[in-house]
Amino acid sequence: MSGAYDELLDATIQHLEGLKSRGVRQVAVSPETLRALAQPAKFQISNLKAQTHPPAPVATTKGTPETQIIATASAGATTPHVVARNLPVAAGISADSAPAPAAFPSNPAPVPRPQTPDHAPQAMPRLDPVAKAAAFADLRARALACVKCPRLASSRKTVVFGVGNPEARLMFVGEAPGAEEDEQGEPFVGRAGELLTKIIQATGLQRGDVYIANILKCRPDTPGQASGNRKPTPEEMATCIPYLHEQIDLIRPKVLVALGATAVDGLLGKTIGITKLRGSWRTYRGIPLMPTYHPAYLLRTQAMTDKRKVWEDMLAVMEKLEMPISAKQRNYFQKS
Ligand code: URA
Repeated sequence: MSGAYDELLDATIQHLEGLKSRGVRQVAVSPETLRALAQPAKFQISNLKAQTHPPAPVATTKGTPETQIIATASAGATTPHVVARNLPVAAGISADSAPAPAAFPSNPAPVPRPQTPDHAPQAMPRLDPVAKAAAFADLRARALACVKCPRLASSRKTVVFGVGNPEARLMFVGEAPGAEEDEQGEPFVGRAGELLTKIIQATGLQRGDVYIANILKCRPDTPGQASGNRKPTPEEMATCIPYLHEQIDLIRPKVLVALGATAVDGLLGKTIGITKLRGSWRTYRGIPLMPTYHPAYLLRTQAMTDKRKVWEDMLAVMEKLEMPISAKQRNYFQKS
């Protein structure tokens, strides 16, 4: 029971952190919860199903149905006791959740609570695999149904959500799907994707070991053009970026690699150009982020110096991840 309780607690805390990071400052709390906040915590997970009151009035105009969260905390308790009615969809658990499938550990080891109130995501407890899979499925479903950019929604063939290992320690972020990605529903499958795959393999990893996503989930439309790609507009980026933020929140990679200027701008805001930025560590919400050139740029320039720079950036990433680096890997693209 305490495993399920921890699971619920972690999912709720993470969801609240996600909302906070996106600027939401208030969530709906029912009057009975406000009363309970003043009481010592005595709530058990087994009580959840008994709580079938109608939803509380929403106390904030920013609240969405996902923020119908009830929190009970004992005054002075070090660990807030958080339970939920209509638990956040994004957290992927409901109070009526079925027990975890046998394939997943249903009783994860207790996760240490963060010590600081404004902790970085990396210090937050990790979601257990069941909650994470559910949250990922929910996020994917929302992205696949998205029509927030009506032009892109009507011109796309697929929504290119992302691919790879949700437990990945390394995550790559690109710009937007191109024609082939739009066709296949998977990021980085065209020529630039083949080069990215080679770069990943050169580190000793496989594509399936990492996670790959884009700032935009839909291919930017190119009206009047039979082929070609265009850069996403700032409006399209701002509209789509919450999906990527949620992906990163769920995956919690140890290192992010931003491929090209659009990825850097999308994650860090407008900064200096990629030429100046690449090769030096930045931070995205506590996660080390390495900006580097986009593989499509490498294909265009064919300049060996730029390929070498990308490899140097990848060596820095491998070091950060404490991956073994062979002499051969160190000496790729060695200056002659
Ligand atoms: N370029 C990108 O930035 N992303 C893709 O998925 C493909 C090409």
